[in-house]
Amino acid sequence: MFGVRVSVLCYLLALVSMTSGTAEEENPEFWRSSAQNTLRSALGRTLNTNVAKNIVLFLGDGMGVTTITAARILKGQLQKRSGEETVMNMDTFPYVGLAKVYSVDFQIPDSAATATAYLCGVKTNLNTVGLSAAARSGVCRSQKGNEVTSILKWAKDAGKSVGIVTTTRVQHATPAATYAHSVSRTWYSDADLPASAVTEGCMDIASQLLRNTDIDVIIGGGRKYMTPKGFPDPEYPEDLSAQGQRKDNRNLIDEWLSMKEGKVARYVWNKTDFDAVDPEKTDYLMALFEPGDLRFDAERDHSMDPSISETTEKAIQILKKNPKGFFLLVEGGRIDQGHHDGRASMALHEAVAFDEAVARGLELTNEEETLTVVTADHSHAFSFNGYPFRGNSILGKSPIFASDFLPYTTLMYGNGPGHKIVNNKRPDIRNVDTADKDYVQQSAVPLESETHGGEDVALFARGPMAHLFQGVYEQNYIAHAMAYTACVGANQQHCGVTAQAHKMSYTTIHQGSSAPDMPLCAITTVMLSALMSVLLH
Ligand SMILES: [Zn+2]
Repeated sequence: MFGVRVSVLCYLLALVSMTSGTAEEENPEFWRSSAQNTLRSALGRTLNTNVAKNIVLFLGDGMGVTTITAARILKGQLQKRSGEETVMNMDTFPYVGLAKVYSVDFQIPDSAATATAYLCGVKTNLNTVGLSAAARSGVCRSQKGNEVTSILKWAKDAGKSVGIVTTTRVQHATPAATYAHSVSRTWYSDADLPASAVTEGCMDIASQLLRNTDIDVIIGGGRKYMTPKGFPDPEYPEDLSAQGQRKDNRNLIDEWLSMKEGKVARYVWNKTDFDAVDPEKTDYLMALFEPGDLRFDAERDHSMDPSISETTEKAIQILKKNPKGFFLLVEGGRIDQGHHDGRASMALHEAVAFDEAVARGLELTNEEETLTVVTADHSHAFSFNGYPFRGNSILGKSPIFASDFLPYTTLMYGNGPGHKIVNNKRPDIRNVDTADKDYVQQSAVPLESETHGGEDVALFARGPMAHLFQGVYEQNYIAHAMAYTACVGANQQHCGVTAQAHKMSYTTIHQGSSAPDMPLCAITTVMLSALMSVLLH
């Protein structure tokens, strides 16, 4: 066994010597001066103790650290470079921390529980949004009295403008946690509510989009949850699945427009109309580009739908007119969905597009007054493995075959739809283009939908009090720290005092890392699978 390992290593080293990096990287001075540059920039860093006028939270749904590394390499390779040395926009942020993502009831969480944590500052149960863990998933009567509000509302209450930008439906878990309270994340329209929930007075998420916080900019998908049952979709009038779904016959888009009387409010559903929206003359914008989620960026119809960079730009241009500042959530929501499909190419292209939106956000704001945070809600069962050579296609194969004498991709999944056994072996991918956007990477365990991962997620911060985001903390800390930087929410003792004084007032940024002492619910396998079946991810 040892001999085999040595010979594989020797083989690798021999190959590496034939395929080494650039000449400059062979010169030790290259690495020394590059490290000295990094050191100089670290030494030159001064604490920004301003109060944040604006907050932009970029949330990559399912964007674990493995996804960030792989997307970074893809970004470089799309620019015809080796890839590994590429710098993502989020990589340039001066402060980085790690957030612990478990929910109150599950070791590995979903996007609803995590969004409630980092937006509302309270950890909760799987499948629930905008509620504390005293509420029970799917149980309407457990909702009342357990509502928790989000930083979007705190910012609005402080006089700031607020917005949500997503690549999913605007009623999806992540954006929903900014404005809704629901024991089920999948109660998108009233047609999704069970009869008992209607009787007990629970309300669908789309209705809450109008009823709760007054949101200035709403951009994403999800038209069909806003219009009456059978209402034809403007883009796909023949498609029955794209039709309106509401049983209460309300048209929430029309209602939203009429609620904004006296203000300039625009509703658009295609790129031409979106491009025509003049941010200088627009108070409110609702843009819904698809009946449900938007398309993957790699499959986007550029004439019909804008990119996440373009939607981010429009949102900031509208929101930044408020002299009191703004809060904006920008979600790259389909990184997660690419992973659930086991399609690494899709997930990574989504992550690259998301990082471009981060760049756009930085261009349109000022670091002195805008806190920018980039993070993820949770990771995925996604691995980056083998010993690929420098510059190997990130969507390619390991140069060494596995012990079953078959090649394997360097990106693969612990579980998911890519598990197959052909003649008692893994599929032979020697002649398969694994970089194809529809390629499904192999997985160890068969599952229709690949699952989330449970490890900590990274958080990158830049701007006022970005240093508060260093260290390892519970995910719900993020909402509290963001609110503190902007003087919104409950903790405002430092507001209005000098920078030095408030620095003194905040003695520690780390929260205790021990797990809360709570009883574990005895969830049977049957209950668990029933719960999982209602989850969309
Ligand atoms: Zn998911």
